[in-house]
Amino acid sequence: MNYDGDIIRPPSEADSIIIQVTVGCSHNRCTFCGAYKDKSKQFRVRSKDEIQKNLAFAAQYCKRQKRVFLADGDVLILSQKRLLDLFKQVKTFLPQIHRIALYGNTKAIRAKSVQDLKELKKHGLHRIYMGLESGDNDVLLSVKKGETAQSMIEAGQRVKEAGIFLSVTVLLGLGGRQGSIKHARETARVLNCIHPKQIAALCLMPLKNTELGELYSKGSFTLPDARGMLIELRELLQNITCDPVQFMANHASNYLPLSGRLERDKTAMLKAIQRALTGKEVLVQEQYRAL
Ligand code: SF4
Repeated sequence: MNYDGDIIRPPSEADSIIIQVTVGCSHNRCTFCGAYKDKSKQFRVRSKDEIQKNLAFAAQYCKRQKRVFLADGDVLILSQKRLLDLFKQVKTFLPQIHRIALYGNTKAIRAKSVQDLKELKKHGLHRIYMGLESGDNDVLLSVKKGETAQSMIEAGQRVKEAGIFLSVTVLLGLGGRQGSIKHARETARVLNCIHPKQIAALCLMPLKNTELGELYSKGSFTLPDARGMLIELRELLQNITCDPVQFMANHASNYLPLSGRLERDKTAMLKAIQRALTGKEVLVQEQYRAL
């Protein structure tokens, strides 16, 4: 398979065939995100020829895989016609595929009507991964997400209305030490309005090649420590009221791997956090944390 640069995909797509349709992210301004800062990752849509060659490769060598993930950052930004053509091609080359997934940023989602999204679903789009990061407008503004809590709610609800599986990512620590609790509460509020199928909570790890990473190394941005991250996680969990929803805080960046179904497993997860806060649960050591 031929890829431009490193490929980032959600952990749940580990078994999927990855077809790179776009390179980079059309927004690429978030101050915490170092995924596509390299010049080689400047946003572009790969040519039909490039995509077809990779589909042909997958048709030959990935016959047993049943899912496709379309990379990079926000394939959903393509026009409706282009997406429908693309899904048709995926089905032609890979008839065994029963699930197509992609990252959709909020702007791309809002550019589609519910009807458009329903049509994409009919043609195979099963899952959209959306980065909420925070529901706190102050945080969203400071990290240049280019969205507000309200626009995130609208985008998330649109995906839900279209009947597409929605997975939402939030970033613990993004409000800094000072804004930690407000960030957690506002994020929970937005999640409750969206009610996604899945919530993934990662811990922010400031990267050197990002604006936020620079602020962090200068001491202008302070990150909650491990204990602070746990308190923020507890605040987030306590305030999430949507049910049912799969809640995952078991990414390699998390200090305390947690995963469960809300509301069902909320008490058990909160107890685990409490045990960790009182030193009765072992945390992942710094050197083993990763993005
Ligand atoms: S966080 Fe998402 S929207 Fe922001 S720059 Fe990175 S890939 Fe693009």
